[in-house]
Amino acid sequence: MAKVESFELDHTKVKAPYVRLITVEEGPKGDKISNFDLRLVQPNKNAIPTGGLHTIEHLLASLLRDRMDGVIDCSPFGCRTGFHLIMWGEHSTTEVARALRDSLKEIRDDITWDDVPGTTIKTCGNYRDHSLFTAKEWCRDILAEGISDDPFERHVVAD
Ligand SMILES: [Zn+2]
Repeated sequence: MAKVESFELDHTKVKAPYVRLITVEEGPKGDKISNFDLRLVQPNKNAIPTGGLHTIEHLLASLLRDRMDGVIDCSPFGCRTGFHLIMWGEHSTTEVARALRDSLKEIRDDITWDDVPGTTIKTCGNYRDHSLFTAKEWCRDILAEGISDDPFERHVVAD
């Protein structure tokens, strides 16, 4: 089987919440695509319940694009501890950590149910499984820890 970097990471050594650059891949024409690990909670200690994670996913799809150019996709890990973020080009973990922090703040402080995109039977694959309440509670806890731009040393991005 192909080796996948994410499964080589020692998940006992990281200190969440953090942003980690996983890889930068270069296509045949020289275009670059970056893959980030947005780790919101500590692996094997915590996991965001699916309803809250699902609502955070729908919101980050818009909120990260509002703050950064080049976002291709942001999808949750099956372990429910965070997200993959795929972007065109190269970006620093500091830039991504700031955009993530500000997006989580918006969810915590400003977002109402009417703001959540894709919550109908036509626009979501499991529209019953959303919780903005859970999303806000977890965003509050994550932000209380701060988002580090280094996965192994706590280096929380400044306001
Ligand atoms: Zn959905």
